[in-house]
Amino acid sequence: MTAPESLDLRKYRRVVVVTGAGISAPSGIPTYRDTESHWSDERLERISHASRYGMHLAELWQFWGALRARATAALPNAAHLALAATEAACREAGGWLTIATQNVDGLHTAAGNREVVELHGRITQSRCMRKGCGPAFPDRRVPEPHEVPRCPQCGRNTRPDIVLFGERLSGSAMRALDARLRTADLCLYVGTSGNVWPVRDLVSTARSAGARCVLVNAEDWIQPHPDFHHTALGAAEHLLPTLLGAPAGGRDPGRIFP
Ligand code: NAD
Repeated sequence: MTAPESLDLRKYRRVVVVTGAGISAPSGIPTYRDTESHWSDERLERISHASRYGMHLAELWQFWGALRARATAALPNAAHLALAATEAACREAGGWLTIATQNVDGLHTAAGNREVVELHGRITQSRCMRKGCGPAFPDRRVPEPHEVPRCPQCGRNTRPDIVLFGERLSGSAMRALDARLRTADLCLYVGTSGNVWPVRDLVSTARSAGARCVLVNAEDWIQPHPDFHHTALGAAEHLLPTLLGAPAGGRDPGRIFP
């Protein structure tokens, strides 16, 4: 274990940040595991599977509508803001910072990050169920239980603009992300259990390409992937401003391994 000050991430200029539900927890959006008590894995997968969701649309909206309500009310926290400030600093120095997020809450964009790959879509957008009706559109309506929001254009049912179980991620977004990972000098994971594909494997691509790989997570039960050079244990909203030298937060010194 070394002192947190010895892990200075300010010098990196080509940065990929992979985020999960933990970074939005301090903004009042519970992580998946925190909501699991009401929605078992089996039930969630049944209603949110690409092959069956049409049969469970009201239930699908009941679960994801709750997340939409939270996302609509939420504000970016110190961790989101530190990443936005770091992207601006990287750009100013001729570099870049790309965020690949599993979150669907849109908070990275709200914080000011410009290069954001939303791997699982965005909950504050909807899509009409009728093929060819039109592209996804911003939608903050939160339906009552047993209700399905209708398309404002054609009146048909809509679905949330998120990637459901059994659906493919965008191929072009994945290719762009892969190119970034192969030229990154820092790969930073924040607030994700990291056991879902493709997030599980991104660190290995970055590590083989020579990037420094760092995991920031709140809990020490997590078994870090062997490709991480360092694990920083602590709350992202306190640790990230310290590690990235960005304003706000920084009261919790956290613990860093090795
Ligand atoms: P997860 O719930 O599996 O894991 C969250 C991780 O964050 C945990 O390891 C936990 O220790 C850590 N964590 C909690 N609070 C933290 C904090 N303050 N600082 C740092 N770490 C913290 O989430 P996941 O890995 O993102 O995967 C779950 C899936 O659920 C994703 O695919 C995502 O689409 C979806 N989801 C999204 C949101 C959102 O958009 N905000 C919320 C819930 C679930």
